[in-house]
Amino acid sequence: MGILNKTLSMLEAHALCDHCLGRQFAMLGHGIENDERGNALKQTLVMKAHDLVLSGNKKGLKVLNVLAANGFSRAASEVLEKTEPRDQLEHKHTRSLCFLCENRFDSLDDLTEKALSLLVDYEYGNFLVGTELTVSVAEREDEFRARFGIDHGENLKNEFGRMIGKRIAEINKKPVEFKKPDIVVLVNPFAGRVEILSNPLFVAGRYRKLVRDIPQSKWFCSNCMGKGCEKCNGTGKMYPASVQEIIEEPFLRATDGTESSFHASGREDIDVRMLGNGRPFVLEITKPRRRFLDLGKLEKEVNRHGKGKVKVSGLKPADRAFLRELKRGETKQKEYHVVMEFENRILSKDLRILKERLTNALILQKTPLRVLHRRADLTREKYIYEVNVKKLSPNKAEMRIRCQGGLYVKELVTGDEGRTANSVSEILNNKAKPLKLDVLNVIMEE
Ligand SMILES: [Zn+2]
Ligand SMILES: [Zn+2]
Repeated sequence: MGILNKTLSMLEAHALCDHCLGRQFAMLGHGIENDERGNALKQTLVMKAHDLVLSGNKKGLKVLNVLAANGFSRAASEVLEKTEPRDQLEHKHTRSLCFLCENRFDSLDDLTEKALSLLVDYEYGNFLVGTELTVSVAEREDEFRARFGIDHGENLKNEFGRMIGKRIAEINKKPVEFKKPDIVVLVNPFAGRVEILSNPLFVAGRYRKLVRDIPQSKWFCSNCMGKGCEKCNGTGKMYPASVQEIIEEPFLRATDGTESSFHASGREDIDVRMLGNGRPFVLEITKPRRRFLDLGKLEKEVNRHGKGKVKVSGLKPADRAFLRELKRGETKQKEYHVVMEFENRILSKDLRILKERLTNALILQKTPLRVLHRRADLTREKYIYEVNVKKLSPNKAEMRIRCQGGLYVKELVTGDEGRTANSVSEILNNKAKPLKLDVLNVIMEE
């Protein structure tokens, strides 16, 4: 069926606005919009019909009446007015409701204005417009397209989003971004609703924890589960501060975000310091209103806020892909420093034995007893690249360990009742316990 015949049969069945008619042929012709396509089709039909009428063919009148009756062709109405006696006119000038969009394209300007007024509160480099349609509206168009064999058209949802996106871009001079937009403007043309969704903001860096007894993330009070009780002085927390809270606070203020998620490459225990060049992390800020940040200034603010307990460095913008890399990098090398106390005196040869037996050694660790209540009981294989030991007193020594990430160092010292093998205690047949543990380095390929 030719384009004009197809158009006529669609218009005989339903009233269609220029947008909705032209959209069915969206792939045909470049550099013109759907409403122009629809209008051109209608005008061509009017001319063709008028030609028939002038040559005395009654079929022309029928076509003009179809075009005029749905109220979407002024030209058809005017031709009819001039050719037909007034009392025989079947048509009205009033526009009927478009079968597909219910004339929602009339609200493009209103919705654009609404979106722009909401966007004023946000900082963003690019955006995307998404359209929400009720299922019945989308289904109606699907049925329509199936019935008339439309396979090169654009759908209503797409055209709406695209049109509003184009208008917003013209006014705010920001590009539409399909893959990773800062902002999604969600439009529901049938409900007349516009909503702004601000995508999370990611900032990467490294943190050092220079004191013990600070958890990495917020630790809820085990008594009240965060509600606040006498035991936790109403704070809902086990510890007054965490690495996450110290870092996120200046960021939440600067971005006006609602909350943050803290992702780090592994974690140290509460009583373990994180020294050296620090542990890589990504801070994910939810629903930020501002995203053009002065990271140098924020670094200073975090470090002031951290009061010498927590320090950050190397802050830089990141994204979801970077976060995935960070998570994958968790098994990279780590360096630890541990001070051990022994039940019995130690000899210089003990230190040599330890270095020999633990350097280039594969350690088998069953999930430590102390975390068994929250982790599955598995056996892990962790490799130790290098160990150096130094005696501090008759029954104390310090050990530096460079190993695969994820090794439980405390258990490497104690042996964890035989669940970690080999261990310092077992090798020397001398019960050892860790007094102080520090993470010196998290080595990542960057
Ligand atoms: Zn329409
Ligand atoms: Zn509590």
